[in-house]
Amino acid sequence: MKNSVLDTIYDVAIIGAGPTGLSAATRLKESGLKRVIVLERESEAGGIPRHCGHPPFGIREYFRVLNGPAYAKRLVKNALQSGVIIALKTSVTALNPRGYLEIVSPEGTGQLHAKRVLLATGTRETPRSARLISGNRPLGICNTGTLQSMVYLKNMTPFRRPVVVGTEIVSFSALLTCKKAGIKPVEIIEENQKPSVAWPLHYAARFFGVPLHLNTRVVNIMGKDRVEAVQVIDQKENSRTIECDGVLFTGQFTPESSLARMSHLQLEQQTGIPVTNQLCRCSDPVYYAAGNLVHNPVKVAGKCWKKGRIVAESIIQDLADG
Ligand SMILES: Cc1cc2nc3c(=O)[nH]c(=O)nc-3n(C[C@H](O)[C@H](O)[C@H](O)COP(=O)(O)OP(=O)(O)OC[C@H]3O[C@@H](n4cnc5c(N)ncnc54)[C@H](O)[C@@H]3O)c2cc1C
Repeated sequence: MKNSVLDTIYDVAIIGAGPTGLSAATRLKESGLKRVIVLERESEAGGIPRHCGHPPFGIREYFRVLNGPAYAKRLVKNALQSGVIIALKTSVTALNPRGYLEIVSPEGTGQLHAKRVLLATGTRETPRSARLISGNRPLGICNTGTLQSMVYLKNMTPFRRPVVVGTEIVSFSALLTCKKAGIKPVEIIEENQKPSVAWPLHYAARFFGVPLHLNTRVVNIMGKDRVEAVQVIDQKENSRTIECDGVLFTGQFTPESSLARMSHLQLEQQTGIPVTNQLCRCSDPVYYAAGNLVHNPVKVAGKCWKKGRIVAESIIQDLADG
């Protein structure tokens, strides 16, 4: 099948149309580079902020407070206005030496060639399957990202009375999403002695009127078709059952590094993140990596946006040096 984005050799191909990829692409195009393409597997560009229907986004970048979708639209508009090509529904499935990428889009499969490639594939939360929790596999179990996509993009709710697991900053985002959708969490549980987020977000649970239980972890999920209850234990191994109709697993971020893992790029052993130097350059110098793919712990959108601009400067210099 013919794939229309494959005819050109691109100056830079960017994988991922989140804040990092879009800000880098815009800066690269502003610098005068002719052919800059962003490859995005979703049907819309904007990355995670597309489904964070709450503020604050955009303060660092646009000096105003936007909600996630408005911020994402603005990033996309700026990129398109500067002449960036955004190829949607286009997944990159392999990274090869010398900037050859395998891609799959509705037009078919093919190989795209770019002089430089920026990996900006972001991060994701650890799903239930990777959390080693026993029990059934009923409906009503998801991560914050899935909940946000359902609530803000599809107007759906996966549950009404979930148990929320985790107290990272994204858990706060999850509570905001629940509030927006009229979902009333029955408890927030955290396996550590204190919440993971810094003050004043410690008080988020109280603010949302949801009981917070520390030193508590889920060991079993019960229910046949839908979630009916979870079994939790505290640090003294006391067990109790919480009746609920869902489980919302939040946080425990892990880099979206599947592509890098399957490639020739050198990886950090523990995290699986591509090894980069101070210019964000990978072990194969044609490849760069930036944004939440390489940030551990994860950074907010504004910081990723800024990092996109910084890595763009490295690439501009690199291409200018030949
Ligand atoms: C659930 C969740 C909620 C969050 N909430 C907030 C919040 O409220 N405020 C905040 O500031 N930050 C939040 N964050 C942090 C968020 O990661 C950053 O705000 C920001 O989106 C990171 O930008 P990025 O461009 O690095 O990655 P992302 O925004 O994640 O963008 C990466 C893009 O790469 C695409 N992609 C991945 N692999 C491929 C591939 N193989 N081929 C093509 N495309 C690919 C993805 O579809 C995605 O669009 C949240 C993160 C998560 C996971």
